[in-house]
Amino acid sequence: MKKIQKGKVNWTQFLDGTPARDYIFQKIPYEEQIHHAVELLENAEIVLIGAGAGASAAAGLTYSGARFTDNFGEFIEKYGSMYMTDMYSAGFFPFPTQEAKWGYWSKHSMINRFLPPALPLYKQLYELVREKDYFVLTTNVDHQFFKAGFDSNRIFATQGDYGKIQCETGCHQKIYDAEEMFRQMDQARKDCLIPSYMVPKCPVCGGNMTMHLRCDQYFVEDENWHAAAGRYGDFLEKMQNKKGVLLELGVGFNTPVIIRFPFEKMVREHNNLSLIRLNLNEAVVPESFGNRAIGINADMAKTVSDLFTEWKGKLVS
Ligand SMILES: [Zn+2]
Repeated sequence: MKKIQKGKVNWTQFLDGTPARDYIFQKIPYEEQIHHAVELLENAEIVLIGAGAGASAAAGLTYSGARFTDNFGEFIEKYGSMYMTDMYSAGFFPFPTQEAKWGYWSKHSMINRFLPPALPLYKQLYELVREKDYFVLTTNVDHQFFKAGFDSNRIFATQGDYGKIQCETGCHQKIYDAEEMFRQMDQARKDCLIPSYMVPKCPVCGGNMTMHLRCDQYFVEDENWHAAAGRYGDFLEKMQNKKGVLLELGVGFNTPVIIRFPFEKMVREHNNLSLIRLNLNEAVVPESFGNRAIGINADMAKTVSDLFTEWKGKLVS
């Protein structure tokens, strides 16, 4: 990843300094945690949301189980259930041809990016922060924050977008909107394959195209990506002197260096900031943060809905 340098804050240089023994699962009752979290959000002048895969899974975009087998039956049959275990593994299948590759990815994009509406979890999140000075940092590529109404100038989706494609070798720094193409492929697909004439080619080098997802060094960071990174840097700068909340959702220990560790470092170094961490299994927080950290270890769909209900109740009363 390229360096993003804005003033003093360089978020790619954050390293985590939390000793493992400092992590705890809080023993505070759930209702108290919800109450405390809403209070923090209410009093915050500025809110930074960080969201990982767990957020979309909780919202309903699960990659395994019935959602996979119901939608990808013919792919499982064609390529084998050993390899086609879920949408995550399926994406890494070495499809033998471009027709097969786009046959799969057009389906994957329809199911995860174009067909789902804005989901309740994301809509409730938006209601919680819409009146605040907020920003969203996300590794998710399903566009849910955009759909739910968040201002696109306040979102930095670092890892790509299921709705965009790019040159496979990143020969030029441009990404292409693929919605129309995927919709056509979805209509034309037969036996998991798209017709040859639909296979996209790079308009510059003539080579293959690929999904705009960060999976190797060829990931294209175009003008918009850099502009969003710059806005994120500005936001971090601003946050240093304000009463702020970092609201983290579904970020595990698989890719902690983009959201989880930097968030902890910011809270550790600025006592004007608090951390609300929502995670199904990994909501441990540094004990040394005291009441500036809330770690809610529960189903996030319920947690966000409970936060939303409590917050709304306060508005009415
Ligand atoms: Zn190219």
